[in-house]
Amino acid sequence: MARVDASIVRLLDDLAETMYAAPGAGLAAPQIGVGLRVCVVKGDENQHYGLVNPVIVKAEGSQVGYEGCLSIPGWVGEVERYETVVVKGLNRRGKEVRIKASGFTARAFQHEIDHLDGILFTDRLTSLSTLRRVEELEAEEERSVAEAVQA
Ligand code: ZN
Repeated sequence: MARVDASIVRLLDDLAETMYAAPGAGLAAPQIGVGLRVCVVKGDENQHYGLVNPVIVKAEGSQVGYEGCLSIPGWVGEVERYETVVVKGLNRRGKEVRIKASGFTARAFQHEIDHLDGILFTDRLTSLSTLRRVEELEAEEERSVAEAVQA
């Protein structure tokens, strides 16, 4: 994708609207049937990142946690991700940006960039036995679906 034109800006807006409505922590274009390397990821508080051609240029540490997917509603599973990532991509103005993210946001970025490569969280489970219905997770002690990234 050579440049960010009006149709890409519209796609970024559609993705953000759908992500907030879900609600989710992120959304990638292939999830809405668009085969472009474009995604949005919710940041801290009421803001989000919209990126074209995002790539992870640096990754450190590790985190293990529950994750779900708006494309596989109702299921969550345990996935190991990098704790901190630096993601490079083009923003909605076509400018190259680098975003450093940790924790929840870093997990969402990795989940969305996986979508661009056709990889689902179920391909990355620490163990198949961790895959369960959301209601099961919620019923478990000290586990809340709120801590699972849905993206
Ligand atoms: Zn997903």
